[in-house]
Amino acid sequence: MDKIKMTTPLVEMDGDEMTRIIWKMIKDILITPYVDLKTEYYDLGLVHRNETNDQVTVDSAEAAKKYGVAVKCATITPNAQRMTEYNLKEMWKSPNGTIRAILDGTVFRKPILVKGIVPYIPTWTKPITIARHAYGDIYKNTEMRVPKGSKAELVVTDENGRETRALIHDFKTGDGIIQGVHNIDDSIASFARSCFNYALDAKEDLWFASKDTISKTYDHRFKDIFAEIYENEYKEKFEAVGIEYFYTLIDDVIARVVRSEGGFIWACKNYDGDVMSDMLATAFGSLGLMTSVLVSPDGIYEYEAAHGTVTRHYYNYLKGEKTSTNPIATIFAWSGALRKRAEMDNIPALADYADKLEKASVKTMEDGIMDKNLALISKLENKQPVDTETFLKEINNRLAEMMK
Ligand code: NAP
Ligand code: MG
Repeated sequence: MDKIKMTTPLVEMDGDEMTRIIWKMIKDILITPYVDLKTEYYDLGLVHRNETNDQVTVDSAEAAKKYGVAVKCATITPNAQRMTEYNLKEMWKSPNGTIRAILDGTVFRKPILVKGIVPYIPTWTKPITIARHAYGDIYKNTEMRVPKGSKAELVVTDENGRETRALIHDFKTGDGIIQGVHNIDDSIASFARSCFNYALDAKEDLWFASKDTISKTYDHRFKDIFAEIYENEYKEKFEAVGIEYFYTLIDDVIARVVRSEGGFIWACKNYDGDVMSDMLATAFGSLGLMTSVLVSPDGIYEYEAAHGTVTRHYYNYLKGEKTSTNPIATIFAWSGALRKRAEMDNIPALADYADKLEKASVKTMEDGIMDKNLALISKLENKQPVDTETFLKEINNRLAEMMK
């Protein structure tokens, strides 16, 4: 069989621990036998980030900008314990944070639905994709404890030094707390455009909610920016593909999400997205089945799994034990990136391969073959928990059949 040719390289961002091991296995077992894989490789493993003073992370994001599509392996975000474990020069920042800041993107998380893994809300028969605005609000706040007898005010000084003041609270009767938060119109607009673009791409409705009835200036600004961009730039495109943009209050949207059958995109303000993405991941069943893609407002895509480097499994792997780690979300990162590359470069055979890779992965799990964690929650009767390598080989048995 002739291997499928690529024209433009995919930006490949390698990572850490168990997912780094799985990364190579996926390429060897499932990709390179079928695709003449063309990547520009960046090693974002912590050892190499440390060697390059994290320059490699910046370079990889710049490459993503240049080529338009990247696929990323999970990476360690260093903490105090990692400083000693890896003998680090500095506590390097989260690579995802660095890449997101350079691409100015929004992260979309979407669960993979398979027979046997029943969401906690059984009416959810289609995936719900969640998008979190990853800038500002309480994540960039300034807060203080305020002693009794103090008066707290918001003060804005304009460029001519003129002050505008508003009372937050007069703490006459007791001690208290205050918090100052901000957001930026441009960031909200980028978020909105990423969401509208993603919805058009996925051909699914877009829902957005805030608390504009209570927060009449702050949250209302989010509502207005979304509405304005929709009217001016996306309304016609949405109507042409038959999808809807829908705004409501955050409490109303929760009720609607719970009652829904899924199949839409849910755009969330920063805090709502933080909380609700964990709720959705749990409700859909498994972190090993949650995909993630960063989409920039100008259409750059970076695909990854939502889970981390699965450290506990890696330490077992280092002891020579066989691990049972779920490779599915990482496989879908590859298939997503290859399909996007195929779309941009017009290579139908590559898009077809990406579809089949996903189908073979889902078929394997629906045939009962899966990792131990998934087997714990699967309702299938013929479950067969396997080690990571067997899992991948079983997927390939099905893929090879489909590729004939
Ligand atoms: P994690 O790697 O997602 O793993 C947490 C636990 O979830 C695992 O120990 C395992 O449970 C289960 N799990 C996650 N993915 C699995 C899979 N594919 N197959 C089977 N089980 C899976 O989170 P963490 O342990 O909190 O973080 C580990 C490292 O990853 C940290 O250094 C963190 O900085 C990094 N991280 C990176 C990213 C990213 O790059 N996007 C995201 C999150 C975390 P059991 O142990 O019970 O089997
Ligand atoms: Mg969270």
